[in-house]
Amino acid sequence: MNTYRTGYKTELKPNNKQNTLLLKHAGIARYAYNWALERTSKREIKPNAMDIHKYWTKWKKENINWWSEVSKCAPQVAFQDLENAYKHFFRKVKLSKKGKIRGKLGYPKFKSKKGSDAHFSLTGCIHIEYNRVKLPRIGWIKLKEKDYLPIGKPSQVFITQKAGRWFVSVQKELPIKKVKKEYYSSVGVDLGVKKLATCSDEKVFENNKFLKKALKKLKRIQRKHSRRTKGGKNREKMREILAKQHFKITNQRKNSLHEITSYLTRTKSRVVIEDLNVSGMLKNRKLARNISDCGFYEFRRQLEYKGLRYGCAIVIADRWFPSSKICSHCGWYNKDLKLEDRTFRCKKCGLKIDRDLNAAINLNNYNGTVSSTESSEKISSEKAFGERSAGYSNRNNETALNELGIKQKTNYKFFISFKGRAKANYPEGEIENA
Ligand SMILES: [Zn+2]
Repeated sequence: MNTYRTGYKTELKPNNKQNTLLLKHAGIARYAYNWALERTSKREIKPNAMDIHKYWTKWKKENINWWSEVSKCAPQVAFQDLENAYKHFFRKVKLSKKGKIRGKLGYPKFKSKKGSDAHFSLTGCIHIEYNRVKLPRIGWIKLKEKDYLPIGKPSQVFITQKAGRWFVSVQKELPIKKVKKEYYSSVGVDLGVKKLATCSDEKVFENNKFLKKALKKLKRIQRKHSRRTKGGKNREKMREILAKQHFKITNQRKNSLHEITSYLTRTKSRVVIEDLNVSGMLKNRKLARNISDCGFYEFRRQLEYKGLRYGCAIVIADRWFPSSKICSHCGWYNKDLKLEDRTFRCKKCGLKIDRDLNAAINLNNYNGTVSSTESSEKISSEKAFGERSAGYSNRNNETALNELGIKQKTNYKFFISFKGRAKANYPEGEIENA
């Protein structure tokens, strides 16, 4: 049986003693990470979690005495983190040598008490009951939310601290449900900055106004923070408030995305989204914050795991697919379309349509093969419509649908053929010259 992994995360309600113990665990994880980074940087040890752990076990007995208070798992996971950080760095170095990327390579950094969120992982004797969780060396800790975590004995839990609050997360393997939807329906979704998401069936998800309010507040706090003297107590206090506000915003954003992704994966059989070249877009500083606010990565991540859960194929269009530049009616390619043009005007068939809706319809029509010749005259069709394959969601439509056990009554190719479908799906846009 095919399974997928899903994560559950919820807040802990530790007492003072437990809070201290949690902090100690996080402290040793950070200490061990920095300890290992120092030695691997000097090439005393290979950047490999196993090697580091061997070295650490010997070293700690000779050099420190407080290691016995905490579980040995905390440093172990920190070493794994470090290994991953190195792998990431080496991958970037390789790409950079080939000239594929520019910018910082991201050599692993020392973790400061202030900078990164404290986190560690525990294995061993773990118990989850409906309102509490038992952790090795720490004991039973109450949970803020009851009856959410899967009850049982997981082999591993992750503990994180965010803005002064502690969270526990566990993973669980679940079988992939072969959800049979009543009818086949496909939708293209264009992610935007002003509107969070526009669907090809004309449904629009606006950006949450709570988020806008929270962002305003964030600005105020940021200003206050920067006015405080560096290293002072007041600055430290402001930093904590700032972290709390950031956390709040992240949560609000996640919530609104959850609503959208649940809706899409539950009601649709196929969702097509863009493969955003985020690193390219982030060069535009003004756009940068907005983009990260909308949480494109988070959106895609949620779609991918919920797609598996609810039997919805997620298709990521190639990053060269010019979804906003093609006319969704006749396939004319508008090479002069600018970022500020909110309306798409087709010079060939006269279609006048909202830019985002046009893009969403094109995404819905996205297919490995395209019958429109007009658009391929201007752009290399291979680049524009080629399907990349990496990971589950990028596999081609048919494979993805077959794996989920979705059978289509209609001939698939016909169903999403570029021209035919576009007409059937024709939105309310006006036609000026036709
Ligand atoms: Zn047209």
